[in-house]
Amino acid sequence: SLKERFENIFANLRGKGKLTEEDINIALREVRRALLEADVNFKVVKDVVEAIRTRATGRQVVESVTPSQLIFTIVYEELVRIMGDAPVPLAVSPKPPTVYMMVGLQGSGKTTTSVKIARRMLKGHKPLVVACDLRRPAAVDQLRVLAEKAGVPFFGPEPGERDAVAVAKKSRAFAESRLCDLIILDTAGRLQLDDELMCELEEMKSASEPTEILLVVDSMTGQEAVNVADAFNKRLGLTGVVLTKLDGDARGGPALAVRAAAGVPIKLAGCGEKTEDLELFDARRMAQRIIGMGDMEGLIEKVQSATSEADIERMTQSLKTNRFTLEDMLVQLRQIQKLGPLEKVVEMLPIPGASKALKDAEIDPKRMKQTEAIILSMTPKERRNPEIIKGGRRRRIAEGSGTSVQMVNQLLAQYEQMKGMMKTFGKMAGGRGGFKMPR
Ligand code: GDP
Ligand code: MG
Repeated sequence: SLKERFENIFANLRGKGKLTEEDINIALREVRRALLEADVNFKVVKDVVEAIRTRATGRQVVESVTPSQLIFTIVYEELVRIMGDAPVPLAVSPKPPTVYMMVGLQGSGKTTTSVKIARRMLKGHKPLVVACDLRRPAAVDQLRVLAEKAGVPFFGPEPGERDAVAVAKKSRAFAESRLCDLIILDTAGRLQLDDELMCELEEMKSASEPTEILLVVDSMTGQEAVNVADAFNKRLGLTGVVLTKLDGDARGGPALAVRAAAGVPIKLAGCGEKTEDLELFDARRMAQRIIGMGDMEGLIEKVQSATSEADIERMTQSLKTNRFTLEDMLVQLRQIQKLGPLEKVVEMLPIPGASKALKDAEIDPKRMKQTEAIILSMTPKERRNPEIIKGGRRRRIAEGSGTSVQMVNQLLAQYEQMKGMMKTFGKMAGGRGGFKMPR
């Protein structure tokens, strides 16, 4: 993945004192390759890489930040720039009704997103969702059921009706009669791009004069995303993109690629199956996910403020003395628990390898209680100096916590693993090494 690749690039750059031209070239070669593989438009890749080079070279390499930190922030800022700095809200027509037309491949999330958007617009608007996918019999019912659950008015075809464009046209009068000022057209998709569908969509466009034509893209689409965005954009003229299923595997490629290919902003992000799981697209957060780095804004601040030799000294010292103890581990584990479903959290952790280590550790609530009991059964001295916990102490702790020596062993092994990760992160970010969520 793009994330792993970036991790590798920066692992190579880690620990060097200054950024040489050679360093920059190596890093940029990898960045270029990663972006091209993610199907980002070639011209855009070239622009980004050149921008990074200019900024990396032109800037005096600051003494107190590592080369990897410097490159990290520059790449991050450029990725944010490509995906769009600020979120772009959905347009509302000055002359109601506002019409949104949802387009995209089958399964991309059009129907779900139609209701998500309607629900989001309930504040301040009276939305109507319209079933214009007449190709699959179940599609109309799917929209009706979702709309009903979300408390959104619904309009669909008469039984046996086959003409989607006619339904879109009729929805206007229905909307007016129900005082709805926002019409959301849920259209048909295909597994592949096809001309017949495009013609239908073109007709629907001219019949319903949409305020927004939103392309819905599954963030798992990968390589295909660019072609899809390009094709829909050429035929229909898109005004925005909705990236769905961002709750799954973190993939940044499509976000970069689609933005570049269609040249229209990514406006919204689907992040779950429920109708409330819709967020404004946040390029900063997306860029953080792409490069697998948690608190980029904090790092940027540090890079910007770190200037003097005294700073290096202080930072090095604090990293050296900053020991990761079992007490810290307990705090971290509790923090992770509070953050919600592990799968959602793990991919945002700023630590390479964290995902695997934590999955191995199987942090479930029951297990967590035992972990807690074990750590609480230790003396403060043991918690701060885990290396003194040998055979006798392990037995005592196991008994005291109502667990087993084997579980105490497991916990200590897990601790060693986390300690290793903290060190890596400390080196990488020069920071405290906490699990920070991206904003
Ligand atoms: P359509 O064929 O484009 O209308 O796609 P649907 O709206 O029917 O969605 C296809 C599947 O993807 C359904 O099972 C949805 O529940 C699911 N889905 C849509 N958006 C999201 C999302 O943001 N996250 C997750 N996890 N699932 C989604
Ligand atoms: Mg559908």
